[in-house]
Amino acid sequence: MTRRLGEMTTAQAAAAVAAGPVVLVPAGAFEQHGPGLPLATDTIRAERVAERVADALAGPAVIGPSVPVGVSPHHMAFAGTVTLTTTTFAAVVREYADSLHRHGWRKILVITGHGGNGAALTTVAQDLLTTHPDLQFAWTPLTALAADVIAGMGVAQVHGHSGEAETAQMLAVAPHLVDRERLTAGTTRLAELDALGAVSRRSGGPKLTVRYDRLSANGVLGDPRRATPEDGEALVDAIVARIADFVTEWLEA
Ligand SMILES: [Zn+2]
Repeated sequence: MTRRLGEMTTAQAAAAVAAGPVVLVPAGAFEQHGPGLPLATDTIRAERVAERVADALAGPAVIGPSVPVGVSPHHMAFAGTVTLTTTTFAAVVREYADSLHRHGWRKILVITGHGGNGAALTTVAQDLLTTHPDLQFAWTPLTALAADVIAGMGVAQVHGHSGEAETAQMLAVAPHLVDRERLTAGTTRLAELDALGAVSRRSGGPKLTVRYDRLSANGVLGDPRRATPEDGEALVDAIVARIADFVTEWLEA
């Protein structure tokens, strides 16, 4: 039987609450990903990872509805980007959680492919402690779970959005959507960030939020031309294993 809630009938959904006590909710963004990756990159990666996590768990996870648009005001200088405000995104996630809770689910894990959703997800998690005390709400990023794998990839001094790791993941899960001819290096050195006045990228100290066009002229941090499908598979494998391990422990707790 399908693990995707959207492919079930309502009767199957009712049965899935007992058989699949954890709902995985993929969340992403609709934002620029440089010259070679599609706008839906974060949602696509989140959905593929959710599918692989559900497969790895072999039973207890149901894949809920995706949140395909995220918090991306910092990318609005680039064409095609669509954003929600933090309050709208938080409301959408909260109302997904409330709906799933009303049908009986008590464990929800949001898998976000977009780092910009993190702050809003934390506020939702805090609010749900009060409004839904019997609901366990967790969320996880993707790439940050595999920092050790990235460290072994030979990435640029500055790397991140649409860079080596993200492009590699796309080469692993959706290679037909990567325009390899157009992949172009973005900002790769801290000195370049300093020249752009993007002091927020230095670690530690006060945090200044800046628009992405202040960080990189083409919207890329790092050099996506270095990405390989093999590195992408290693990244996705590590991410999937870590999320699946978390869910397994969560179900035993
Ligand atoms: Zn992304």
